[in-house]
Amino acid sequence: MTTSLVTGGAGFLGSHLCERLLAEGHAVICVDNLITGNPANIEPLTADQRFSFIEHDVTVPLHLDEAIDNILHFASPASPIDYLELPIQTLKVGSLGTHNTLGIAKAKGARYLLASTSEVYGDPLVHPQPESYWGNVNPVGPRGVYDEAKRFAEAMVMAYHRTHGLDTRIVRIFNTYGPRMRPRDGRVVPTFIQQALDGEALTVYGDGSQTRSFCYVDDLVEGIWRLLMSDTNDPVNVGNPHEMTVLQFAEAVLELTGGGGPIHHKPLPVDDPKIRQPDINLARALLGWEPQVPLRAGLERTIAYFRELFAAVPPAE
Ligand code: NAD
Ligand code: UDP
Repeated sequence: MTTSLVTGGAGFLGSHLCERLLAEGHAVICVDNLITGNPANIEPLTADQRFSFIEHDVTVPLHLDEAIDNILHFASPASPIDYLELPIQTLKVGSLGTHNTLGIAKAKGARYLLASTSEVYGDPLVHPQPESYWGNVNPVGPRGVYDEAKRFAEAMVMAYHRTHGLDTRIVRIFNTYGPRMRPRDGRVVPTFIQQALDGEALTVYGDGSQTRSFCYVDDLVEGIWRLLMSDTNDPVNVGNPHEMTVLQFAEAVLELTGGGGPIHHKPLPVDDPKIRQPDINLARALLGWEPQVPLRAGLERTIAYFRELFAAVPPAE
């Protein structure tokens, strides 16, 4: 049986990925220190004998006896408020965590896939962003801890590929949303949904003219699966090119929840990218992939998840 190790597997994306890998017939080892993850995300998977969970910080070396065919490195704080609160852990998991997991891949002869990010493009000067764009990142700004950790991780992955012949993949993930996001992780999707469902004002940062392009989690996981199965070593963008302003996004959430108070503007965070849209021509050509779930359908599923969650456990302040 194929065995895949997923770091950060108890997080939002990692748990969906574990589920998909099990569905593809893999045995799955999930490694997570639960720093931003949630055991409830993987609880339903624990009934499957092919699934195992190791609570471990991947910045510390890990020794595993079993054969491993794939390593998918998803461990990292991912929301701006998480990585601003955990700057050193974020730098360490992108650097030491990537080095340690590449070491496991080399020892086991495993394929390696890095979860990188659109943040490697920083506040982009090229629009939409193709993989060939080198980015516009402030290394010493508050977001630098995340952006530079991921840029270092990409460089490390390419070095292991070139030096040791490791079979590697890099996925540059653009804003992805869906069930199992943490209600208070501060990212715009769970924040606006929670605020709207609780009848609070939606907190739009700045004038809300900055843009993002939101991808539903099932589409992302399909793109990652296809990338893993491909023979592409260079980075590939996976995201939904449907771009909108944050203000338009707030209006969509208000319409679909039928709730929420007025929009309340707050200061724009430092170095918040003004525009973001993936150029997905490479993913289309190499993987035959493009997103299938329109924003409305994805948001309806996500809102239903949060309604159910809040009915069971009201969000903590
Ligand atoms: P998340 O916070 O839900 O998941 C991250 C997981 O990594 C958590 O379970 C956390 O406990 C774990 N983790 C963090 N540091 C660790 C360490 N040192 N050792 C072991 N586990 C550790 O976030 P997510 O949105 O699921 O993001 C997953 C990955 O995808 C991250 O690498 C992130 O950078 C990348 N990504 C996500 C998005 C997105 O829109 N969701 C966009 C770009 C990139
Ligand atoms: N944002 C906002 N209100 C919030 C949270 C975020 O207006 O309560 C904005 C944020 O400034 C950014 C966009 O929404 O322009 C997306 O933010 P998020 O934290 O989801 O991800 P980012 O793309 O910045 O990593």
